[in-house]
Amino acid sequence: MRREPAANEALAEALRSYARTLAAAGVVQTGGAFTDLPEADRFVKTRAEAFLIGVLFTQGIPAERAWAAPWLLAQRLGHFDLGRLAVERERVARAIAAPPALHRFVRTLPGWVSAAAARVIEDYRGDAAAIWPEGTRVAEVAERLRAFQGIGVKKAAMATEMLVRHLGVRLTGLEDGCVAYDVHVRRVFLRSGLVVRDSVVEVASAARSVEPGDPGSLDLAAWLIGRQHCRPSAPRCDQCPLAGPCARLVSLRPDGVGVRR
Ligand code: SF4
Repeated sequence: MRREPAANEALAEALRSYARTLAAAGVVQTGGAFTDLPEADRFVKTRAEAFLIGVLFTQGIPAERAWAAPWLLAQRLGHFDLGRLAVERERVARAIAAPPALHRFVRTLPGWVSAAAARVIEDYRGDAAAIWPEGTRVAEVAERLRAFQGIGVKKAAMATEMLVRHLGVRLTGLEDGCVAYDVHVRRVFLRSGLVVRDSVVEVASAARSVEPGDPGSLDLAAWLIGRQHCRPSAPRCDQCPLAGPCARLVSLRPDGVGVRR
């Protein structure tokens, strides 16, 4: 089902409007915090290396749990020293896997954490904030992040967006930013009719078309809509910020053609 241009514009404006509302309210993730543990929230917001390690955890588990992990890891280890994280991989592995485990991927995460610590020491003189100094272009920061094991296109897009939007890092070239190709974002773009096919290229292109000067600014709005309203089953369309113009293509045939709900 293809959208008429007017319908697309109404939909685009509804998404932009919700993104502006969230920004004005200072909404981050599910509220005012990355995670619901205040100490852990402070930790990832005030220590660049903790933020970087937190990005590694944002996969396959709820965001709140992922962002709590760096602080919990530091509590279990008794330190958050990059030099030790880099070389004491077995200790890191035991700390991550100790019940309750800090992540589902207890075999993969320790390697990513140690490799990230080593790379920050080698390439950024031990200062993770040097990955994203003020004035650097968004695309450059995303590329630097993608050089870390465990950070792909999706996490890099999410991280750069969070640096700009929530940690106040003044990066440039916002027009090169993008929404993260996240399961919630994809579902909203597909069901609403912003994209016809679920592909990283189509989602990125649609985000650029909705907000050419700053496509990444749509990331949180789409992610929250997907998480809170556009659920995999039983979407709450009536309460959704896109309710009016959305195509509501909740059931999709294998060929990608939508069936209106
Ligand atoms: S919850 Fe309903 S209205 Fe909102 S994006 Fe999903 S399908 Fe559209």
